[in-house]
Amino acid sequence: MPDGLIDLHTHSAVSDGTETPTQLIHAAVAAGLSTVALTDHDSTAGWQEAFTAAKGTGITVIPGMELSTNYGPASVHVLAYLFDPNNGEVVAETARIRDGRLRRAERIVEKISADFDLTWDDVLAESSDGTTLGRPHIADALVRKGFVPNRSAAFESILHWRGGYYEKYYAPSPVEGVRMIVAAGGVPVLAHPATHGRYRPMDERVIGDLAGAGLFGLEVGHRDNTEDGKRRLRVLAKKFGLEITGSSDYHGEGKPNRLAENSTSADVLAKLVERGSGTAPYVGTPHRG
Ligand code: AMP
Ligand code: FE
Ligand code: FE
Ligand code: ZN
Repeated sequence: MPDGLIDLHTHSAVSDGTETPTQLIHAAVAAGLSTVALTDHDSTAGWQEAFTAAKGTGITVIPGMELSTNYGPASVHVLAYLFDPNNGEVVAETARIRDGRLRRAERIVEKISADFDLTWDDVLAESSDGTTLGRPHIADALVRKGFVPNRSAAFESILHWRGGYYEKYYAPSPVEGVRMIVAAGGVPVLAHPATHGRYRPMDERVIGDLAGAGLFGLEVGHRDNTEDGKRRLRVLAKKFGLEITGSSDYHGEGKPNRLAENSTSADVLAKLVERGSGTAPYVGTPHRG
């Protein structure tokens, strides 16, 4: 593996990032990354464009996805790497989740429209066809209409899960998600498992169950994990034989998170690549002059 920083969690405009996969790869090269994973929510639609953009740049792209799962009332995100994007269950399940997200966004907008001058067309104008829709696109519409100054302000008020307009959407359980990814030759890592709020800290029993289902690692290095939570996660990683990753969760201008603000060791990346069998990493071998 080449020297340089490794960032295994980023979003493009295929989901709720603000840059195209091409722009994201260029930003990753400019940030000095040796390896970047594209992990759009519930979609692999950006993979080919990312590979094409990486060609000749020297960067390695790990094709990935951030899978939505539901654990009771909590939304739990599972990062998935190197799986087969054509696996039947993956194709069907992610389509079902994206469809659920679309209808859920419509329900949220319907509720909001009772109090604010916001229409479904306003939200559609903030995304392109096939985008995995989420609250960030509703946030962008609220910003454009002048109701909030930016995405973060929207999430702290109107779009907060206790803000009065929140709706859930269909997603499998975390254990089902991990099993599905492993069956598709992929490598699952639990995303930001120790954040506050709706993405609540996962308890020990659940992490044990996920380890039993084939979980590879825990995303300990993430700005939303609490310091106390990170300490707890390191203990649980040791206990269950899980690897530790760190990543930025970059969303372009959609979030303050900067590329490489957290990173993963070359040693862990090597094990991850060794484990994955559904799709190979794309090595953008540099042009020689
Ligand atoms: P959803 O998936 O529709 O429930 O929306 C949650 C997504 O919004 C997460 O994946 C985050 O990346 C994004 N998000 C959460 N909080 C914020 C924030 N404060 N600013 C911008 N984006 C956020
Ligand atoms: Fe996101
Ligand atoms: Fe997430
Ligand atoms: Zn993310």
